Order: sequence, then structure tokens, then C-alpha cells
Amino acid sequence: MTEGHQAIIVGAGILGLASAYHLLQNHPGLDLLVVERLAGPGLGDTAKSAAAFRDMFSSPVNRHLSQAAIAFYERLQQESHPLGLKKIGYLWLATAEQMAGWGRALEDLARAGVKFQTLETRDLIFRLPELRPLDLSRGILGVNCGILDPARLTRFYEQEVLRLGGRIRYHSEVTGFTRDAEARINGIRLGIEEILGDAVIIAAGAWTGLTLGLAGLEVPLVPRKRQLFSIPAKEGPLARLLAAPGFNDHNLLPFTILPGEAYLRPALASFILGFANPDQAPGLEEPPRAEADFYKNRIRPQVAQYFPVFQGLAPTRSWAGHYDEHLPDRTPFVERLAGALVIGGSSGSGVMKADSLGRIVVARFAGLESVELGDGVQFRVADLGLQHRAVPREEFVI
Ligand SMILES: Cc1cc2nc3c(=O)[nH]c(=O)nc-3n(C[C@H](O)[C@H](O)[C@H](O)COP(=O)(O)OP(=O)(O)OC[C@H]3O[C@@H](n4cnc5c(N)ncnc54)[C@H](O)[C@@H]3O)c2cc1C
Repeated sequence: MTEGHQAIIVGAGILGLASAYHLLQNHPGLDLLVVERLAGPGLGDTAKSAAAFRDMFSSPVNRHLSQAAIAFYERLQQESHPLGLKKIGYLWLATAEQMAGWGRALEDLARAGVKFQTLETRDLIFRLPELRPLDLSRGILGVNCGILDPARLTRFYEQEVLRLGGRIRYHSEVTGFTRDAEARINGIRLGIEEILGDAVIIAAGAWTGLTLGLAGLEVPLVPRKRQLFSIPAKEGPLARLLAAPGFNDHNLLPFTILPGEAYLRPALASFILGFANPDQAPGLEEPPRAEADFYKNRIRPQVAQYFPVFQGLAPTRSWAGHYDEHLPDRTPFVERLAGALVIGGSSGSGVMKADSLGRIVVARFAGLESVELGDGVQFRVADLGLQHRAVPREEFVI
């Protein structure tokens, strides 16, 4: 069966749905179909995310993408769409050697207006009695950083897409593409069903390489497994650490990154512990599994070294997903390939940039040179393409 749509989006993760929302906002009445192989919105890597956000990126491009999206999310929350957005801050605990290496990057951030505080070890111990400072020299507290609830954000976009007349088909896996006489992608295959579209937009996250492979296309993307582990903190010293006063209005420990890059993400009466292991072999694991040994040997020793209250504790829940890494500069791209528009390479920070990326997809769709992002500032669309890319390599990937 063949039916025609003006636009088809493959993938109902946060990037596909943010793109769908902005397409319908900018082109009222557009005949838009989103197809997703899973049972609901954001059940791929969006659901696996730690959903933390920050403006502390070394690359001005990443800073803008994130700051603008967060400005939009904050507005949504103020306008009665609760997103669980809390500016609890990001706290980097750094050794003297790390501080020396970051000097220039921190100066650049300060010049760019990014707000952060430098905390002496004695301030840290005063605020965090559970901390054993060992080799720590300073804490860097990013002020305009925090956490949100990715399920609520995804639902917001999904509901708006439906309200604006878009259609979403779940349980629908794209198994191939159709091409026109000039070999441009002009539709999708779902098993034996073919659906044509004037524009096909691929937002398949870590499966983008696999999906484009169905059309014989290659992209410079690498999926890499990432794991998270939940530790309850309902009472005692862990609950006290979670409710650390003096960092933010929420009396919560900031999202805290240790010198070895393991991190503690505050959650509801619990911590989520993670570590983007640089030695993790690239590749898709289906389904990805969190490994008890990874927690025990690679995460807990890092965390318990500085916070002995974690000694001997085992997680009650764990899960794994993938980063969709764009290795050349660890920054997303939006580009046309064989006629399809591809949005990918979120590189572990797609939730915090989703709204900006959705707007850039719309600008590419409409052939615009620049687009206003959620902070009211223009963004040059070609900068995020692969042809005329103008993106410095990101140094702060967590
Ligand atoms: C452990 C972990 C921690 C993270 N922490 C953070 C964080 O703190 N902050 C942050 O901003 N980001 C974080 N991220 C990254 C963030 O989750 C991703 O950047 C973001 O979710 C990417 O969104 P997406 O829409 O591209 O991918 P997804 O949410 O995976 O959506 C892609 C969708 O495409 C569908 N799909 C794929 N192939 C097909 C096909 N052939 N047919 C139909 N549908 C298809 C998939 O089922 C999926 O639902 C983290 C990721 C992980 C794994």
C-alpha cells in the first residue's frame, strides 16, 4: 500500500519528536508522519538518559545549542508544563593537575559569560561533610546547569505533535527506503508496506548507521554503550549527601563529576551513578545490558574513594543505552544524504540540545540559512552540516 506524506520522520525519540513539533509549528497543516519501531515515545536512548544539562561546553556551538534549548524548556516549565527541570548545578571535583589543564578553557567560559564558581577544598568539606578530599584541589560549580525529566519532555513534544495534526505510528520499523529516478530517498519501507514522502527525516539515534545502511549509506557515527546504576538514598548519610545544602535552591547535591569522570546524578531519594568509559568498545549491543562488574570495578571504587558512604553498596536498578557519537568533533550534525535529512551524533548530550536541533532541522527542511533558536539568537544552519561544517572539537564530554 502506498500513501503520500509531505514529511516522514523515522524515530520518535527526543530528536525526532522535537523536529516534528517545530515542523508543525512552522508549517501549520503539514501532512507529517512519525514512525517508531518501539511501543511509545522516547523509549530508545532518551529513556536511558541521565537527563542532565549544562552550558559548560568548550565549543561555543555546543554552548549555544544547549543554552537555547534550556531557555525554551525553562519557558515551557514556567508556562505550566512541568518538566522536572531543576537548576541544581554541575560540580566538577578536580585535582591540581586537572585545574592546571583546564585554566584556558575556564577563562574562555568566563569570557563567554558562562556562570561558574570556583570552590576551595575547605568550602567543599564544609558543604559536603561526607567528602574525603584526598587529592582534590578545587570544585568548579556550573550554575546554569541541572537535571530534567526526559519522559515529561518527550511527552510534551508527542502531545503537541498530535494536537497540531501530526500522526505517529508506533510498532513500525523502517526496513528499507524507496528512491526516485534520481536515486534520492523518497519514502520508507515497513516490511511489505511502502510509504512515500516529499521529505524523509532520519532521527534514529544510535541506530542511524544501521538505518542508513538499509539505503547503502554510511555516516561518521559510532554507537557506544553507556551504563547507569541506581543507589537508594532514603535515609542516613546517603540521604544527607543527596540533600546537600548551599549549592542550589533545591537543597540537592549538584550533578557531581569526579576526577576519574564517574558521576553522581541526584534522583528521587536515590543517586544514579554513571561513567562514560573511554575504553568501551564501539558498537551496538542489542539489548544493551548494564554489567554488575562494571559498577563494582570501574564506578564504585571511584565514587567510594571520595565518598566512603558508597563503600560496599550495590545498585537496586541498572540499565544501559548507547551514545550516538560523532567522533570528529563530538557535536551533532544535521545534513542531507541522498535526499534524506539526517539528524544524528548527539554524542551523549541530545536531551539538553533537542529543541535547538529540532529548529535546525526545520530550517534545513525549508532551505533557510539561519534560524532563531529558543534563546532568540540566530544560528547559522550550515555550521552544523557535514559539507560546510564550522564546529570546533568538544573537549568536555561526560
Ligand atoms: C546512559 C546515558 C546517559 C545519558 N545522559 C545524558 C544526559 O545527561 N544529558 C543529555 O542531554 N543526554 C544524555 N544522554 C544522551 C541522550 O539520551 C541522547 O542524546 C538522546 O536521547 C538522543 O535522542 P534520539 O532521539 O537521537 O535517540 P533515541 O531516543 O534513541 O530515539 C531514536 C528512535 O529511533 C527509533 N528507531 C531506530 N531505528 C528505527 C527504524 N529503523 N525504524 C523505526 N524506528 C527506529 C528507535 O527505536 C528510537 O526510539 C545519555 C545517553 C545514555 C545512553
